[in-house]
This record gives sequence, C-alpha cells and structure tokens, in this order.
Amino acid sequence: MKPFDVIVVGAGISGAVIAERMASQLDLSVLVIDQRGHIGGNCFDELDADGIRIHRYGPHLFHTDRENVWQYLSSFTRWQPYEHRVLSSIDGELVPIPFNLTSIERCFPEEKARLMIDALIARFGEEARVPILELRKEADPLLAELADFIYQKAFVNYTSKQWGVAPEAISPAVTARVPVVVSRDDRYFTDPWQALPAEGYTAMFRSMLDQPTIEVRLNTPMSEVLRFDWQHQHIYRCEAGAESLFKGKVIYTGMIDQLFAADQGALRYRSLRFSFERKGQSWWQPATTVNYPNEHEYTRITEFRHLMKPEPAAQATTVVYEFPKEFDPTTEDEPYYPVFTEEGQRRFKDYAERAQAMSQLHCLGRLAQYKYFDMDDAVANALETYHRLRIEYA
Ligand code: UDP
Repeated sequence: MKPFDVIVVGAGISGAVIAERMASQLDLSVLVIDQRGHIGGNCFDELDADGIRIHRYGPHLFHTDRENVWQYLSSFTRWQPYEHRVLSSIDGELVPIPFNLTSIERCFPEEKARLMIDALIARFGEEARVPILELRKEADPLLAELADFIYQKAFVNYTSKQWGVAPEAISPAVTARVPVVVSRDDRYFTDPWQALPAEGYTAMFRSMLDQPTIEVRLNTPMSEVLRFDWQHQHIYRCEAGAESLFKGKVIYTGMIDQLFAADQGALRYRSLRFSFERKGQSWWQPATTVNYPNEHEYTRITEFRHLMKPEPAAQATTVVYEFPKEFDPTTEDEPYYPVFTEEGQRRFKDYAERAQAMSQLHCLGRLAQYKYFDMDDAVANALETYHRLRIEYA
C-alpha cells in the first residue's frame, strides 16, 4: 500500500485547498479521493456541445471581500471580471433584485415611488442595505406598504419554493443575503473582488491539485479506502482486500452524519433538481439569472452565455432551471443547503463531538461542518484549518 501522510475525502473547494496547502507548503504526500467522476465538487464546470461553459451543479459566481482568499486563488487561475446581475419577474415586469430604487420605480406609480424612495432614504440613508425582515418592522405606513409589497411579491413564494416554509421560519441571515438596497446599484454582490476563473472552475481546481505529492482518485467511495473503528478510535486504510492501521490525518469533507450512518437521524438539507435546456437562439433572457418568485415550480433560470467572454459563436444558448426539493439521502439528490432546525443543530453537535474524539480526523467544509458557506467562505475556512493543522507538522 502506497503510504500517504494525509487522506482528503472530497475534491471540492475545501478538499482541494487543504490538499494543495499540505502538499505545496509542508511537502506531505496527500491522497485525495472523490466518489464523483470529477474534481471541483459543486463548482464543477465544463464546455457543452456549443462551447458554452455550464455549471453542472447550478450557477457559481465568485465574489469575496477577503483579500487573502483572492490572492490565494489568483495563483491558480487568471480571472475574467464578472459582476452578477439578477432580475425578478414581478407582476409581468422584470425588476432588479436585490430590490433597489429602480425596482421601486418599476413597480409603483411615479409619485408613490418618489415618496417611498424619499422615506427610505430619510429612514436608512443612501446606500443602506436593509434586510426585508427588518424593513417589515417599520411603522411608517408608506414603508410598511413597500415592505409588504416586496415581502409578498419577491420573498414569500420564492422562499416557500426554495425552503418549503415562510421567510420567518428560516434563519434571518438567509433572506438578509438579498437585502433591500437604498441605491441604484443593481449588482447582486457588492464585494470588491468579483470574477470568474478565466478557464473555468474545474481548470482552477486542476491547477491546485496538480502537485507532485498529490494523488487524486476519482469514482472512489470512502469505504473503498478507509474504515473507521469508532470504538477503539482507529482508522484503517483498505486497498485490494487488505487493511492496515492508518496513522496520518484524514480530512473529511463529506456529510458528517454519513460518518456514522446517520445513526442519530439524518441532517436535513434542501436539494435542487437542475433541468438544462438548449435553446435554438443566441440569447434567451436579458440577465444571467431571472428569478420567478410567483410563477412556475422553478425558482430561477440561469443562462450561461452571459458568463462568457468572448461570447461563444454558437447560435444556441444553454439555460438551467432550478427546481427545489427536500434532500432525500436514499436517492441521487445532492445535499445543497443545510436546513437549520434546533433538532438538526443538536444532531450536528452530537456528530461533531463524536468525530472530534478521533484525533486524526478533521471535518472540513459545508457538508462536514453543516454550514451555508459561500465559495470564498469555504476557501477561507480551509486556509484557516490548514494554518491550525500545520503546527502539528512543525
Ligand atoms: N430570496 C427570495 N427571493 C429572491 C431571491 C432570494 O425570497 O428573489 C430568498 C430565498 O429565501 C433565498 C435567500 O433569499 O433562499 C438567499 O438567496 P440567494 O440568492 O443568496 O441564494 P443562493 O444563490 O445561495 O441559492
């Protein structure tokens, strides 16, 4: 059996970052396994038959306010500047989302829109970004009317499709991701760094994992390589029917409950069914993403052509529809969004404590730490974990 210092389970953001750091900075030999047939986790992208780069697990738009994350990733990719813009279909109009001053003017008669804008500016100041659940607390009748309109038309039905419950029933941080904006800035994100890897995410991850001391094995479930003996707190390497005690570190980036066959109950996630469609025309819609809060079963349509520079030559375009659903671990569903309930948090804590007892094992990333991470959060989190762990090799 080829010896490795570290085994990383999962070749997504967290796995790729920690593997890259451990190999390039500490010269450790690292085995990265992934049960899927590709690296990059949910960031995986590829060119379709028309030469359009699609994101197989839904649109991934990189943005960050963390200079260290930006610098770090910049050593593995060139960037194509890209600022995400989203429109929402409200009463037959396509209006900018996050809901901003332009959106108000599109949805209300001129005089009322002016009064609402004045009231918003007087109350919160220009440039403010106000979570919808905060705006809903305003007593002023005009602001209350505006809040109610935005809540009813942009949030209630979208959130009910996405999460299966009303906006109040999910963490306020989730709806606060898309605040009401007291300006005409129609960008979805305001971070100073917003861009896409010029050759795609997959190429960026390939470059990270392309190290002399990293070996990547795809289509490899964890059970083919590792066995955990929780009772004696031992980890075994398995290969070709043989087993031996593994003394190195295991970085696990999969679902934490699956380490324990979900014996305390499965952690809840929302999943998505993606429906890709090729349209026989150059452009399908006026923005990368159009949200449909109130019509249809899907929440949004994303057209990938908008993400490409130079524009692809094909007279065709590819779009993806997102149909939210509850994650069912017995199917092919992917777990995308953790659903935070008190019971879920208790279960997670229980699993996390049991995992911590195995001192060689480190749970890392969205699924293993049961967090709603943006891509840059996942990179920052993996870099921090690396800095913590490297001390053990000093
Ligand atoms: N949301 C909404 N209407 C919208 C956009 C977002 O109600 O038009 C709510 C919804 O609950 C969603 C959350 O805001 O889950 C966060 O949206 P975001 O676009 O950040 O979600 P992601 O891109 O991570 O799926």
